[in-house]
Amino acid sequence: MGDIFGDIFGDLFGGGGRSRRANNGPMKGANLRARVNITFEEAVFGCEKELEIVLKDECTTCHGTGAKPGTSPTTCPKCNGEGQVVYTQQSMFGMVRNVQTCPDCHGTGKIIKDKCSACRGTGYTSSRKKIQVSVPAGIDNGQSIRIREKGEPGTNGGPRGDLLVEVNVARHPIFQRQDMNIFSTAPLTYAQAALGGTVRINTVDGEVEYEVKPGTQTDTRIRLKGKGVPSLRNKSVRGDHYVTFVVQVPTNLNEEAKEALRKFDEACGNRPKEKGSDDFEKPEKKKKSFMDKLKETFED
Ligand SMILES: [Zn+2]
Ligand SMILES: [Zn+2]
Repeated sequence: MGDIFGDIFGDLFGGGGRSRRANNGPMKGANLRARVNITFEEAVFGCEKELEIVLKDECTTCHGTGAKPGTSPTTCPKCNGEGQVVYTQQSMFGMVRNVQTCPDCHGTGKIIKDKCSACRGTGYTSSRKKIQVSVPAGIDNGQSIRIREKGEPGTNGGPRGDLLVEVNVARHPIFQRQDMNIFSTAPLTYAQAALGGTVRINTVDGEVEYEVKPGTQTDTRIRLKGKGVPSLRNKSVRGDHYVTFVVQVPTNLNEEAKEALRKFDEACGNRPKEKGSDDFEKPEKKKKSFMDKLKETFED
């Protein structure tokens, strides 16, 4: 059943939809597609790019007819210039009228006997052309820019199709983007995180200074308002830049720094004064003995 219905509906609708009357009226040309690669910053602020594409133009030798100069195309005898052939077919619902594009003239309604040598009978010549593309600020990866009338030429005086340029935005080593917001991480030294102070943060507008609060924990996220991506509709409206601070644990310390850290730990009351491998066991032992004493006191 599925197949039968498929065939019938294919004939009634699909086939009918595909076939086109020989259109003598103006028709818009097909759209062309191209791709342009830009950087993260170019997507944020917009840019001008030059594309080289192959564009079809009406053949100047035959003026688009495809026929050798001095000759002209003749009416297709199979479809009498209609561009489509109609035949009827018996089906379970009765006779079905089937319309198809003429196989001899491919829907043009014309047959070219002597082809124009400049365009090999196609009526068009192709050439490489440079196209300027204005990439608007705020464009995102995968979005397309429509450049009007830079597609395939129209027929019978119709306008050209459009050129659709898809934008491919490169990944940035630091910044990540989600819609209009930018995300990044920034390192904080242990001292900066503990004491607070001014740090420099990279944004798409360059470095900015930020006042870190004393006691900032790792994974603290701050917002730099208006340092994100502009809106495609309104360049002056911008998203935000979110920065996550990552507190760095120091490595490769020299002896002076190590000593300073030991002193720091002592000052915080985290470390007993005596040194040795059993440093970390002693506080627990003391604790136990204190608890024991406490127990003894209650037991007495
Ligand atoms: Zn030609
Ligand atoms: Zn035909």
